[in-house]
Amino acid sequence: MNDINPRAHQHADIRQGVRDACRAFDSSYWQQVEEESSYPEAFVHALTEAGWLAALIPEEFGGSGASLTEASVILEEINRSGANSGACHAQMYTMGTLLRHGSLEQKRTYLPRIASGELRLQSFAVTEPTTGTDTTKTKTFAEKHGNHYRVNGQKVWISRVQHSDLMLLLARTSPLAQVTKKTEGLSVFLVDVQESLKKGLTVRPIRNMVNHETNEVFFDNLEVPAINLIGEEGKGFSYILDGMNAERILIAAECIGDGYWFIDKARTYANERIVFDRPIGQNQGIQFPIAHAYTNVRAADLMRYEAASLFDAGHPCGAEANMAKLLAADASWQAANACLQTHGGYGFASEYDVERKFRETRLYQVAPISTNLILSYLGEHVLGMPRSF
Ligand SMILES: Cc1cc2nc3c(=O)[nH]c(=O)nc-3n(C[C@H](O)[C@H](O)[C@H](O)COP(=O)(O)OP(=O)(O)OC[C@H]3O[C@@H](n4cnc5c(N)ncnc54)[C@H](O)[C@@H]3O)c2cc1C
Repeated sequence: MNDINPRAHQHADIRQGVRDACRAFDSSYWQQVEEESSYPEAFVHALTEAGWLAALIPEEFGGSGASLTEASVILEEINRSGANSGACHAQMYTMGTLLRHGSLEQKRTYLPRIASGELRLQSFAVTEPTTGTDTTKTKTFAEKHGNHYRVNGQKVWISRVQHSDLMLLLARTSPLAQVTKKTEGLSVFLVDVQESLKKGLTVRPIRNMVNHETNEVFFDNLEVPAINLIGEEGKGFSYILDGMNAERILIAAECIGDGYWFIDKARTYANERIVFDRPIGQNQGIQFPIAHAYTNVRAADLMRYEAASLFDAGHPCGAEANMAKLLAADASWQAANACLQTHGGYGFASEYDVERKFRETRLYQVAPISTNLILSYLGEHVLGMPRSF
């Protein structure tokens, strides 16, 4: 059958390379990982070895210096293959913070080792149990004592920390009550996870709906060297915001990959499954939801490329990045529903992978940013309506 992605010929080398790397990790691999509730270590290792996860690291530091558009194609193809980028995507979307705001010394120390696969930067600690989406109320506090900061507090939903060497941590360095703007007084640190586990960092796994390694994380007088502060003290919130557009675009691409996977899976099954002596796909009740979802995946893909090309050209892209994420997350969820419905009862059977991908793609409505927060960004910052919170 023809490729349903009309852009499949663009970035063909990247697409082919990622598909080749993912080929060994087929349906049975993902089912086994899921059954064991384990981390897809061999898969992440293979992608690292092939250099795909270091795509955004500049060549001078050992990476391939890819554009964001190219990086987004990598994540799209991972999800299109039936795999889940959630096991390893953070290294792409946290990279900008280190690249744009890290010191030359930090970049020289970490980037070549991340590029070679010696170190993983897969953990990003922002969300807290009592503050949720209201990030400026972050309570985790890093207090400076000479040449180190002492960190106390708690984070939740911190993914991949058990399989990462480094964690980007957002913490308050000035109390909220002492800053003029609530976005000030937050700082970003690069935390050595293995080292910290011995001296004040505790990680407690959270069982969840998808096989996603995510955790509660506790800081009890954890000492982080002051040289691990990224950029200027107190400016961390703006660094995190800086990275948001890239994150939205990359996540949109993952959703697009999921969307095409669901559509492919649905149309194949619709053509093969015979009920009432004809393929179920001959019924428009089956065809139309798949065609409708396909239309929305294609439309979302246009916005994803629009956002990515603006980003790569250095132009503002907040509106497009947010819309791409929203449209793509909705389209992949619509495609997931159409695919599951097309499979009837078999959609619920693990061996078809549909129910796994269905759960995985549902997450994009909530994390890393929920749909409501995107709509509020558009309402306030793009459409000029009153600030709501
Ligand atoms: C599997 C998983 C992995 C994750 N990985 C990470 C990670 O690695 N690092 C990390 O820092 N975080 C991570 N998160 C956290 C994720 O980013 C948050 O769950 C998400 O941002 C929402 O925050 P919350 O869960 O606290 O929801 P809340 O802030 O409590 O919000 C609950 C609901 O209310 C809505 N809401 C809240 N305020 C408003 C408002 N003013 N107007 C309209 N609607 C509103 C939200 O949109 C949401 O739907 C992960 C979450 C999950 C589930």
